Amino acid sequence: VAADGHIVIVGAGQAGTLTAEALRSGGFSGAITLLGDEPHGPYHRPPLSKAWLAGEVGDAQLMLRAPEMLAKKGITLRTGVQVEAMDRTSATLRLAGGETLAYTGLVLATGATPRRLPLDGGDAPNVLPLRSKDDASAIAAALARCAEQALPVVVIGGGFIGLEVAATARKKGLAVTVLEAAPRLLGRVLSPGLSAWYAALHRSHGVQLVLDARIDRIDTSDGLASAVVMADGTRHACGLVVLGVGVSANDGLAAAAGLACERGIIVDACGRTADPRIVAAGDCTARRLDDGSLLRLESVQNATEQAKSAAAALLGQPRPFTATPWFWSDQYNKKLQMAGLSAGADAWAVRGDMDSGASFSVYHYRGGRLIAVDSVNAAKDHLQARKLLDAGVSPTPAQASDSRFDLGSLLAA
Ligand code: FAD
Repeated sequence: VAADGHIVIVGAGQAGTLTAEALRSGGFSGAITLLGDEPHGPYHRPPLSKAWLAGEVGDAQLMLRAPEMLAKKGITLRTGVQVEAMDRTSATLRLAGGETLAYTGLVLATGATPRRLPLDGGDAPNVLPLRSKDDASAIAAALARCAEQALPVVVIGGGFIGLEVAATARKKGLAVTVLEAAPRLLGRVLSPGLSAWYAALHRSHGVQLVLDARIDRIDTSDGLASAVVMADGTRHACGLVVLGVGVSANDGLAAAAGLACERGIIVDACGRTADPRIVAAGDCTARRLDDGSLLRLESVQNATEQAKSAAAALLGQPRPFTATPWFWSDQYNKKLQMAGLSAGADAWAVRGDMDSGASFSVYHYRGGRLIAVDSVNAAKDHLQARKLLDAGVSPTPAQASDSRFDLGSLLAA
């Protein structure tokens, strides 16, 4: 992109905002416009299911960047603006309301949309997904109503967002049922042992957990969901249903403009699409790996790193994102920190005391090599794991499970 060009960023979330800043810090002196369809400026999503929903932090702490900060960097933030279409031939965007905006470089950072369930009663106004601040405000209001009227909460989906909301609702003293269709919690991301550990954690906090859940419908009364009814006829009364059943990448604009998409906008490790003027970053992408497979990650780290790569690519300085993926989740007083991707692991080693649950890490191996480490209240293990994985250093399972063995010594070597 020419130095006096105009880079337009669609999506003012984690990835979009950080791309704008990385363009400036990378030396771009042209115009930058950051477009977001939400009424709010850029904010952090992770607290929406955790500390913010629990009322432990306020709106000020949600803010990712103050609009004045962006203005100081010469980044024009426009909120409440939806991009309806893009035309790659004329290099223009059509905004809702009819305005046309020309770009010389384009960043797609449109995030993802929570899935709904095609259930009878699934569109009642107290059946709520959680993605945006407005979603979280609606859930907070519904939780308050449940507390007032002593109504239970049903969470559909035992993934991170569902379980975090369940933990937050328990903290508020509400009765909570979690319905998970799979035989275990967090089945796509955790080892069976850790899934069982999380199930025990939630049950110990009084959550009613239903695995292999088969939902038939949601019954309503006066227009509001009043019970989730299972295929076997069991009824779970509710004043609120929270949907935590995953997201779909917002790749519609890109697909309509002829860019390759498959469960997300396909990008390379540098965030590039096949169009040299267009890059993409964050939850809207699917990254093509060297072996040809596609990797979809939905995390702050992924959005942040892809943002830096996408900005660098537009500035003609390719910077592949190859660091070990990491993620975290807070439930009750337990902080899970994950490094690497554990899918396909065939052996595990545990460091620390998993039975007491105070602090421990699970080391995942495939073909004898360390591929991922999940740590619970063990921040030091987590930071070390990222270093080990980045460096391709693999402790033996015996070393990993021996808490007297200094894993850091392997790095020094
Ligand atoms: P987003 O932050 O979703 O930003 C995309 C923006 O683009 C949105 O504002 C969207 O409205 C806007 N947009 C879309 N289409 C258009 C359009 N056509 N025109 C204009 N604007 C548009 N990650 C972690 O690593 N750890 C956690 O603990 C964690 N907890 C989470 C808890 C919750 C409740 C949620 C929802 C997410 C959590 N995540 C967590 C995931 C993390 O927040 C996301 O991976 C990250 O926000 C992705 O950033 P993004 O910029 O790609 O997408």
